[in-house]
Amino acid sequence: MSKFFETKIEFLKGIGPQKASSLNTELRIFTFGDLIQHYPFRYEDRSQFYKIKDLSDELSAVQIKGQIKSVTAVTKGKKRIVATFADDTGTMELIWFQGFKWIAKSLKTNVDLIVYGKPNLYGRKFSIAHPEIELPTESVLTKGLQPVYNTTEKLKNKFLDSKAIGKHMQTLLETAPQHITETLPDYLIQKFKLISKREAVVNIHFPKNQKLLDEAKRRLKFEELFYVQLKLLKLKVTRKRDYQGMVFKNIPTLNNFYNEHLPFELTNAQKKVIREIYKDLCSGKQMNRLLQGDVGSGKTIVAFICMLMAIDNGAQGCLMAPTEILADQHYKGLKEFADKLNISISLLRGSTKQKERKIIHEQLESGELKIIIGTHALIEDVVKFNNLGLCIIDEQHRFGVAQRAKLWKKNTGTPPHVLVMTATPIPRTLAMTLYGDLDVSVIDELPAGRKPIKTIHQYDKNRLKIFGFMKEQIELGRQVYIVYPLIEESEMVDFKNLMDGYESISRAFPEYQISIVHGKMKPDAKEFEMSRFLKNETQIMVATTVIEVGVNVPNASVMIIENAERFGLSQLHQLRGRVGRGADQSYCILMTDFKISRESKTRIETMVRTNNGFEIADVDLKLRGPGDLAGTQQSGVLDLLVSDLSQDAAILQASRDVATEILEEDPSLDLPKNKNIKMHIESLSKTAVNWSRIS
Ligand code: ADP
Ligand code: MG
Repeated sequence: MSKFFETKIEFLKGIGPQKASSLNTELRIFTFGDLIQHYPFRYEDRSQFYKIKDLSDELSAVQIKGQIKSVTAVTKGKKRIVATFADDTGTMELIWFQGFKWIAKSLKTNVDLIVYGKPNLYGRKFSIAHPEIELPTESVLTKGLQPVYNTTEKLKNKFLDSKAIGKHMQTLLETAPQHITETLPDYLIQKFKLISKREAVVNIHFPKNQKLLDEAKRRLKFEELFYVQLKLLKLKVTRKRDYQGMVFKNIPTLNNFYNEHLPFELTNAQKKVIREIYKDLCSGKQMNRLLQGDVGSGKTIVAFICMLMAIDNGAQGCLMAPTEILADQHYKGLKEFADKLNISISLLRGSTKQKERKIIHEQLESGELKIIIGTHALIEDVVKFNNLGLCIIDEQHRFGVAQRAKLWKKNTGTPPHVLVMTATPIPRTLAMTLYGDLDVSVIDELPAGRKPIKTIHQYDKNRLKIFGFMKEQIELGRQVYIVYPLIEESEMVDFKNLMDGYESISRAFPEYQISIVHGKMKPDAKEFEMSRFLKNETQIMVATTVIEVGVNVPNASVMIIENAERFGLSQLHQLRGRVGRGADQSYCILMTDFKISRESKTRIETMVRTNNGFEIADVDLKLRGPGDLAGTQQSGVLDLLVSDLSQDAAILQASRDVATEILEEDPSLDLPKNKNIKMHIESLSKTAVNWSRIS
């Protein structure tokens, strides 16, 4: 790697200590390497000229060649200077609302000029407000694509707007290219017809033409995604090589469970996934597997069956859930099975009493207790296992990486096998990147006999109709959820909405019992209300999103979501997943105000159109970008500089495939042809800073 890119930014001609300090704090640009990787976020197309007759107000900024014919100062209404500008096809106006003196002095009439700006249509005349004006010199006429750089208000005040950053970039690029070395081996460059690293870096800043810009982007994206994938796959390979796994071959209890106690026929998808996991658990290597399955696809029973594999071979199993309600529910469901099989099972939560806790700790350590279900309480240091064989994490996106790691350090000898389950379907590209080091199993089928949930969008003003519908459903014996948003910043207002809603429901349905559950309630009180609803002692459950994850009340068939426009797509999908769990036709009703944003509209329309979690996840990725999706916040792998997971699926797949091939042939990257790769990986791991990607 070249030392050149470690040079402090203040040593670039024209920058100096003051500007350097602003660049440090505002954009985290410290070195030449950081600056050169401050890639433009878009480009202005200065390669084309428009004629006035071809303008439309749909266009973004355009440039036009012509002459100013006259200049007038308008004092009526808002003070402004208006210039008439003409080319050989028509006339338009240029308008300024400030800087009058300077403009009046410098505007030249009847000379050729180039103006640049966004055309607006007022009446039948086009105008550009505050256009850029330049003389048609050689350099202006051959500008081509101009980079636009991210900057901040503070930097603009320090004379570091996008244009200025571009100037500094030009200075840097006078000397930088000779220091840029190739990071990919020749055979990959040829195979994928990539341009060189040097050419790519120069052209991503100052593209000679659109084609070269596209080539530059493709090259840099490929490199970026290739190294992310290679790193993840290498981790997987090393783990498989270095970590032994306990072998869980004998499964008498499991067979007994299958033959005697299975409450329903497993779906083919469940069977397939169980086979995949069993194969892992017999392999002698540690399993690290992600189990994806849409809400209601039946992951819990799969988890239980896998725990039986561990128990049948003298090990213990644990299942960690993100909330107390969910842990309780798992515990109750699985205890029924465990009791039939004479397997000890306990529940450990934050609210577990000290005395009981002590007993659980002792029994876990002695090995007497075989299955433990719990919340975060499981990762506390005091919790020790005799022989933890399988660690299952439900709704894993709610846990941080560090929390997960703590759990699988619970065994001193061989690490436990790890199964993480998620009901938040994520697009393939994101899964490959977020969980690229895990093996993935997917339950892509719902149990038979489920009717697809009908989803309906309703405006608030139709509330009476909805009340009527609720009544019908309750009279048929069903139960109803009504969910209110509760988001922290506006908690007080939200809380009032929830309470008002509860009161108006109570008034509208005096003949029914109504539960309320929200985050401010004590765990016992929540639990009490949830269990009343579960037993059908209450018919309506008014709640916040605390019920979002996992709760299972098969008799509930109507989910009403208030202010649905305020929920994210994956949250809406999770909430909807609370119904449709029994044999009855279920409904999800999304209530919104009449006026909602375009993005909210897309979310609601998507929900109405499809029940498919993966399709929903794709739309979500497009709407929000990967950085905001559930679970990605704690992940460094998504610090992508040039790639966009919602658009670059093809490049990602190609780079992952070829990375897999390379590691199969040469796991330690010792072959001469992979020298570049090895060197680059080493430089990447030596330093956490960005510039290493350059050299
Ligand atoms: P999730 O994947 O969302 O965690 P659960 O494990 O809670 O789903 O299962 C949802 C419901 O479906 C539960 O009531 C469960 O008992 C039931 N279930 C699971 N598998 C099957 C199956 N193969 N056939 C019928 N019902 C099933
Ligand atoms: Mg679940």
